[in-house]
Amino acid sequence: MATQEKCSFCGRTRKEVSLLMSGISGFICDECAARAYEMAQELTREKSGGKGQFDLKSLPTPKQIKAFLDEYVIGQDEAKMYLSVSVYNHYKRLMQKSFKGKDNSSDDVEIEKSNIIMVGATGTGKTLMAKTIAKMLKVPFTIVDATVLTEAGYVGEDVESLLTRLLQESDYDVASAERGIVFIDEIDKIARKGDNPSITRDVSGEGVQQGLLKLLEGSIVNVPPQGGRKHPEQRMIPVNTQNILFICGGAFDGIEKKIAQRLNTTVVGYGASQKSEQIDKNDLLQYVAPQDLKAFGLIPEIIGRLPILTYLEPLDRKALRSILTEPKNAITKQYVKLFEMDGITLTFDEDVLEYIIDKAIEFKLGARGLRAITETIMMETMYETPSSRRKKVCITLDYAKSKIETANATRLKSI
Ligand code: ADP
Repeated sequence: MATQEKCSFCGRTRKEVSLLMSGISGFICDECAARAYEMAQELTREKSGGKGQFDLKSLPTPKQIKAFLDEYVIGQDEAKMYLSVSVYNHYKRLMQKSFKGKDNSSDDVEIEKSNIIMVGATGTGKTLMAKTIAKMLKVPFTIVDATVLTEAGYVGEDVESLLTRLLQESDYDVASAERGIVFIDEIDKIARKGDNPSITRDVSGEGVQQGLLKLLEGSIVNVPPQGGRKHPEQRMIPVNTQNILFICGGAFDGIEKKIAQRLNTTVVGYGASQKSEQIDKNDLLQYVAPQDLKAFGLIPEIIGRLPILTYLEPLDRKALRSILTEPKNAITKQYVKLFEMDGITLTFDEDVLEYIIDKAIEFKLGARGLRAITETIMMETMYETPSSRRKKVCITLDYAKSKIETANATRLKSI
């Protein structure tokens, strides 16, 4: 009897397939099951209009987007607001083509792309914000690093490879990728060298910027499917960047000087003393304006294609403290969870948290360092406890200090 068992779809016998699953009145082999699954996926996608189709009702409002960001990102209210509005408008722009006015006619007003640029010191939450927004989106999203463009040395040529990851994210569904969002990190690294002494690598920034401009302003570009450098025999995938939203982020080290210079030169003449009193010299980034990006070395065309400019605040003690304990996936919460899974209750003494913050500030690591420092403190406990009978673990200041003092400080500082 067993030899009679065949897949009811392709007719192959049990011997010819790797797996034959039985149903009430028939069989299906693994390959047919996989194909059926793919077809079902495709059909559902078509029914829902494909990845990246929206209607206004299902679209989260800017306030809802911000509320979601608030769960994961501490502070940065202005950047959150700007980002929420831009993403919301981006979707509206995508929907505009199918949108009919009250009189059932579509009008000629064309909504322009609202690409964003975020300026803020490293470790203040730019990437986190972009990643968090990706969680709630139904469009392909990817994070790419502008520094790879400079390192390849193939100036301008490889800019298209920034879109490879987006294609991969959307399973090479080009239409879906064409409505996605790309976060370009470290955009400041492609600034023109001449204008900014802090950029040491010769990246001939302008060539890369011209290449990037093509992507930002919307054109059809040939993307190498596997990324890297283009070579002639490679088959390219044409991608239209017209509807791709670009979010750029960068630390722009030293831009405060440019801002200060501009503020000083504008604060002259009538009303000058009054204006200069209002300037908060400790946080100049909040006054960042497009001309400062130009002074830093970005070409005006690029700046023009990134019309939404916002900044991230430096993180003070209070913010670092909140980051450590408050967000939905706060660092301390993650360790508590890890121990809870072994049936162990983990607590941190209050002064340990303060100590972690002290060290993060001392090592100039900002929020980025909180995790590394906590990890260093916790490593041995995480190694030992699961095989012990302990049900409670409390991290004390003395214990934390002993771990940090014996740790390799050079390694910690280089995070
Ligand atoms: P940036 O991109 O600005 O250099 P990141 O977003 O990569 O910095 O931040 C590094 C890490 O620091 C994040 O993964 C997060 O754990 C923490 N962090 C930074 N800023 C914030 C913030 N505002 N709220 C919560 N966590 C933050």
